[in-house]
Amino acid sequence: MRNIAGLLANPPLDQSVEITGWLRTRRDAASFSFLEINDGSCLANIQVIVGDDLANYHSEIKKLATGCALRVVGTLRASPAKGQAVEIAAAQVELIGAAGADYPLQKKRHSPEFLRTICHLRPRTNAIGAVMRVRSRLAFATHQFFQERGFVQTHTPIITTSDCEGAGEMFEVVTGQGDFFGKPAGLTVSGQLQAEAYALALGKVYTFGPTFRAENSNTSRHLAEFWMIEPEMAFCDLQGDMAMAVALLKYLVADALKNCAADLELFDAYVEKGLLAKLRALVEQDFIHLTYDQAIEQLLAAPVKFSYPVHWGIDPQSEHERYLCEERYKAPLIITDYPAAIKPFYMRLSDDGRTVAAMDILVPGIGEIIGGSQREERLDVLEKRMLAAGMNLDDYAWYLDLRRYGSAPHAGFGLGFERLVRFVSGMANIRDVIAFPRAPGFAPC
Ligand code: ATP
Ligand code: MN
Repeated sequence: MRNIAGLLANPPLDQSVEITGWLRTRRDAASFSFLEINDGSCLANIQVIVGDDLANYHSEIKKLATGCALRVVGTLRASPAKGQAVEIAAAQVELIGAAGADYPLQKKRHSPEFLRTICHLRPRTNAIGAVMRVRSRLAFATHQFFQERGFVQTHTPIITTSDCEGAGEMFEVVTGQGDFFGKPAGLTVSGQLQAEAYALALGKVYTFGPTFRAENSNTSRHLAEFWMIEPEMAFCDLQGDMAMAVALLKYLVADALKNCAADLELFDAYVEKGLLAKLRALVEQDFIHLTYDQAIEQLLAAPVKFSYPVHWGIDPQSEHERYLCEERYKAPLIITDYPAAIKPFYMRLSDDGRTVAAMDILVPGIGEIIGGSQREERLDVLEKRMLAAGMNLDDYAWYLDLRRYGSAPHAGFGLGFERLVRFVSGMANIRDVIAFPRAPGFAPC
């Protein structure tokens, strides 16, 4: 049995076919009914024509309600009417699971806010269904990108005893029996430190897994549980890191343009006007490279008033990033060489002694989508920075070992997967690009 996507891609005309799916709408004519059925395999529904000669026509078909589950057997034929190329002339329609008149997804537009109250049913809408197909494709393309380039996927722990960067607050892991691990443990905020250990053995590795941050950020770009893609490369500097990050972004967007065309056209029409042009531009445009110093100069010269004042040393806020990306340059940006004071301890200290070999990539509509750096590979410099940050070196003995034995320059970055899906789909809120979002005060199912 083929799904609707398969039937539409290569229609076996005038042959018997079987489909299963959920009823979107029913329209009745004098002696027959039209059923619009969707099975989630693609955006398009398939139209089924059911004549009153079917035994269950009056008893069942004419009562079928939106949302019910059906199995249809019939002949696939060219459709005489406008709106679809093919349709199914039903020989048999079986009601598998009824839906009542209280089914929440009656045919009309529903707001994203309403849909978030029914996270378990919203994948049956066009928009969320499309987001999830695009998300799945982007995940596949991510693995393809790294595997083609000889990266080894590593599964870093979800429960961790090293707080990566104070990147955000950690969720504590506790049990009723007290100190389960013999020391404090939490849910990982990043797999990076562990990925470094594997990069310094396998050369090129990547992680792609869930991360958790208990930061109280109620924004359209933060989740408490999100997925991150984190490559880590030995014998690599910041230049190589930036090149890999740009190549990954372009590859993923190009892949979605090629393989998710119908879903992206829906987003372009109803979710973000100009989405396709934006995505094509990302694939073709050069990214603009600014140092942090240059970015600050541009912000100081900006003809706008920021609510968070600008001076050298600030951690750029969303309003600053968006001004640079969406107004000043209207292009994706890479900002490098941030002040050491606003970046985590593991980033490599530059010769100027005041900046680190960090890079953030910003894209229009999102702001930061990637954060990365060359890592500090010199034991003495790293120890000094950790002590200055008030860290206990004994807790990180394993991490320091990596600098004691066969240390080498290495670099990596983190790409927030939901920010990527948001960028590619144009969805306004990050909670609408993950199946079951978790955010402060929000974890419905
Ligand atoms: P931001 O400044 O936007 O809060 P960050 O600097 O804390 O992000 P990093 O620690 O550099 O983020 O994490 C790497 C990437 O992970 C970010 O570039 C972003 O794409 C993503 N990311 C970070 N925090 C979140 C979050 N709470 N929800 C979703 N994605 C996130
Ligand atoms: Mn960052």
